[in-house]
Amino acid sequence: MKTNILLVEPNFPIPAKSKNHCNFLPIGLLKIAAYHRERGDKVELHRGNFRAKTYPKEIKITSLFTYWSAHVWDSVNFYRTLYPKARIQVGGIYASLMPEHAKQSGCDDIQVGLYRNGIAEKYEPAYDMIDVDYQIIHASRGCFRKCNFCGTWKIEPEVTYKSSIKNEIKKKRLVFYDNNLIANPHIKTILSEIAEYKLPDKSKVHCESQSGLDGRLLIKDPEIAIFLKNAHFLHPRIAWDGPYRLWPKIKEQIQVLKNAGYSTDDIFIFMLFNHDFSYEEMRLKLEACRRWRVRVIDCRFRPLDSIADGYKPQAKNQSNEEYYIHKGWTDKQVRTFRRAVRRQNIAILLHLPNGRYIDGVEREYIPT
Ligand code: SF4
Repeated sequence: MKTNILLVEPNFPIPAKSKNHCNFLPIGLLKIAAYHRERGDKVELHRGNFRAKTYPKEIKITSLFTYWSAHVWDSVNFYRTLYPKARIQVGGIYASLMPEHAKQSGCDDIQVGLYRNGIAEKYEPAYDMIDVDYQIIHASRGCFRKCNFCGTWKIEPEVTYKSSIKNEIKKKRLVFYDNNLIANPHIKTILSEIAEYKLPDKSKVHCESQSGLDGRLLIKDPEIAIFLKNAHFLHPRIAWDGPYRLWPKIKEQIQVLKNAGYSTDDIFIFMLFNHDFSYEEMRLKLEACRRWRVRVIDCRFRPLDSIADGYKPQAKNQSNEEYYIHKGWTDKQVRTFRRAVRRQNIAILLHLPNGRYIDGVEREYIPT
């Protein structure tokens, strides 16, 4: 029997212009949509809270970061009021990491991990429901490492790899959602497929990854960097989550990418801050990136079970009650570090002689 299914992406605080950005696409919902359509169900997708065309029998609400949980609760409340007879399920990252908390939203049940044990995984996402010029690919699930700040190994404890993605390629731009793309033992085959692939109009495809590359694997097998380059892989981003003393390794990882043909303008370094390494140590890491002239993508740490984040970028100062400030950090250091990253990135982008640019003036970093 046909079922009316409503899929909902809550009103997350994503600027309207970034709604279709590849970092935020509700790809899980698009796969669930494809799966239910094949079963003959009628599927509607809502990005936000509003009245459906037909009364849904089932409502499936996705979730993202735990600190955006309030938006999930809002959606549950909104659709519960509008459709009291519908069965509401919440899935996604927050629901998988904090099922007990998510259950208190008033939903009927929680989907932990992949939808129905991954049954929708083999479906091509219903891209017709969303207007984007790229496609998302998962060539693997899970990650063999167990970094203490990361939820991947909790959400996807089983590590699985695809050996080929050739038959999935439909668009010119591919975005990998893999957590550790190059850990896939078949990565060279997959990258070769992309390098050789031609779309019906004979154009080539290019690819990128939402997550950082595991640089330790690049050192272990530098040939991977050549395969990345040949596959038109854009903007490789190396994760530097360890201490400053690892800088020779990071330098070597950058060199591996440079040897493969990437310029420092192409390469980025991911850095987690407001975490175990002090402000002073993070400044040293930032300073190393300045010397190497690579830009930094900073990521402010929030605990995996934090259910709210009241950080306001424009505020002058805020307290630990308003947002999570790590015990070794202060609000001032969080703001100063973010500002330093942005200024340094501008200086590197503008090719200023020594990569320092503060208030329009080049200045030295003096440790506090
Ligand atoms: S390597 Fe990356 S994906 Fe894997 S556990 Fe660490 S942070 Fe998470």
